[in-house]
Amino acid sequence: MNKTELKKNWNKVLSLLPQDQMTRIRIDTWFRPLQPYRLHEEGGVIYFSSPDGDNFTAGLVRRNENMLGPAVEQVFGRPYRIEVRDQKETEEPAGDIPEEGGFFNPRYSFENFVSGPNNRLAVAVCLAVADEYSREYNPLFIYGGSGLGKTHLLHAIGQEVRRKHPEKRILYISSEAFVNEYVNFARTNKMEEFREKYRKLDILLFDDVQFIAGKKETENELFHTFDSLYNAGKQVVFVSDKPPKELGDIPERLITRFQMGMIADIQPPDYETRKAILIKKAEQEALTLDPDMMDVLDIIAQNIPSNIRELEGALNRVVAQGALTGEKITKQLVRKVLTEVFHTKSSEITPTAIKKEVANYFGIKVSEIESSKRSRYIAYPRQIAIYLIRKHTNLSLPRIGEEFGGRDHTTILHSYDKISEEIRLSEDLRKTVDILEHHLTEEFSTETV
Ligand code: ADP
Ligand code: MG
Repeated sequence: MNKTELKKNWNKVLSLLPQDQMTRIRIDTWFRPLQPYRLHEEGGVIYFSSPDGDNFTAGLVRRNENMLGPAVEQVFGRPYRIEVRDQKETEEPAGDIPEEGGFFNPRYSFENFVSGPNNRLAVAVCLAVADEYSREYNPLFIYGGSGLGKTHLLHAIGQEVRRKHPEKRILYISSEAFVNEYVNFARTNKMEEFREKYRKLDILLFDDVQFIAGKKETENELFHTFDSLYNAGKQVVFVSDKPPKELGDIPERLITRFQMGMIADIQPPDYETRKAILIKKAEQEALTLDPDMMDVLDIIAQNIPSNIRELEGALNRVVAQGALTGEKITKQLVRKVLTEVFHTKSSEITPTAIKKEVANYFGIKVSEIESSKRSRYIAYPRQIAIYLIRKHTNLSLPRIGEEFGGRDHTTILHSYDKISEEIRLSEDLRKTVDILEHHLTEEFSTETV
């Protein structure tokens, strides 16, 4: 049984589980992120990798075996044990299991995608490609780091085109699946069929193209597939974790093809975008956005800087943990979960706490720190506060500017650089900053327990 079938069967298993609210949360938080990667007939085991590679999920699965067992048996026709392995130990590459053919994840829609300065261009061109009249972005090449929404966007294009043009032949495939398919068809002398399948497409959505590197024959096949689609005026979208020119091991002629059309990048989201994503996600989960919940979202947004998959994971964990123990979702709970699961030291060092501490230390008012007054006895503490906020929170420069009456981000950067430099030169300032930091972290640690 290949991975795609395995994954399909696993989804069937999940759909057979009871559908009450609690189980639904458990399924989405614990079981759905598990990736089945091998079925061992003789051993009667299905191996799964867990995206966070911890023992937490393995334990949960074991505890829920009496719920999973019957569903597994029903789908697979016999009982299987479920083994969760740390992803690092699994012999196959990590990553999403390709959904072959026409399946798109309904959650990965344009409506559910939050756009921000980090991904605006990519979203704009994806929308244009999904629109029947744009053929100018061909091929479209999107690149960006892991968990930043590349696969989401590919699915969104696919679903949008399918909605508007059900007759169009759309295929989403990842390089891993493409390579496997190529190998299978080649082995069974069915290359004609393979070519037929790919060359009659209207849109090819090709995910994680970087993984094709080094697979000579498949690269060659992709090259010809691309040319025949492109020459027939068909749309091709490539996704990669690197820009074309950094795709070292891929032949030059293929790289040239990647660069022929439009290239758009996705950068890690800034704080506002992270917060907006969490709010959207919370709304989807029908969570009440009361002040407590907003605080919780804020802490997550501040502590998980770059990966949106982790951002969602953190929220899911917090919600599941809350539902499980009946605890109200509070700052304390979120800190506990963040530290446990993400090994992130969740800091309660907020801009407000920093401004208060600094104002207190220098005997001035917070409102003065935030003001535009320029006298040195206020400007200097303000620069120190800016320095501390930049150092201890993940706020973007513009966002820090907002904390100080809408100052320009260049002013913020200047203050930060100035204080960093002075700390190196002045023993006095170093001591001052030490004391401030000590106070701030102490406040945090007494609050956590
Ligand atoms: P990638 O393919 O770049 O590694 P994915 O597309 O798999 O990342 O995204 C990881 C998760 O984050 C998915 O659940 C996706 O829905 C979500 N996600 C990523 N970017 C956004 C965004 N801008 N708005 C909403 N959800 C997002
Ligand atoms: Mg992806």
